[in-house]
Amino acid sequence: MKYTTRELTKNKRIALVAHDHMKKELLTWSTSRVDTLKKHELFATGTTGNLLSNTLNLPINSLLSGPMGGDQQLGAKIAEGKIDILIFFWDPMNAAPHDPDVKALLRLAAVWNIPVATNIATADFILDSIHINASYQARIPDYQGYLADRTK
Ligand code: PGA
Repeated sequence: MKYTTRELTKNKRIALVAHDHMKKELLTWSTSRVDTLKKHELFATGTTGNLLSNTLNLPINSLLSGPMGGDQQLGAKIAEGKIDILIFFWDPMNAAPHDPDVKALLRLAAVWNIPVATNIATADFILDSIHINASYQARIPDYQGYLADRTK
């Protein structure tokens, strides 16, 4: 695979998702980190986004609810370079009906090399990173090179 870079600007596009049993945890954590989160553009799956916007009083770009396609919408945005960070408190103790979508979302986050937090500790590490309020060059697959290799 050939690689190139993509600039993650000072103002990040952060996606927030929580499974049902993890929503309280995400709401509590987001409230405690609102001063950092408000400096960035926020996206979320449907239910998570509506709960967050009521709790944080911040604009949230809410997509469809996860089981209805929201995880896939986020995955597409990641592949298009439109999401910079994923904070996804998935539930390790209960099975989800949309498990294939969850797996696909996490897979695309790995392919496109975006920072992912699946728990509070990692989310804190990301928000406290020197990169959060600065520009960062992320290594990403060189899609044009990938296509050229496959079509020659
Ligand atoms: P929700 O979706 O925010 O609509 O609950 C989250 C998910 O289950 O992926």
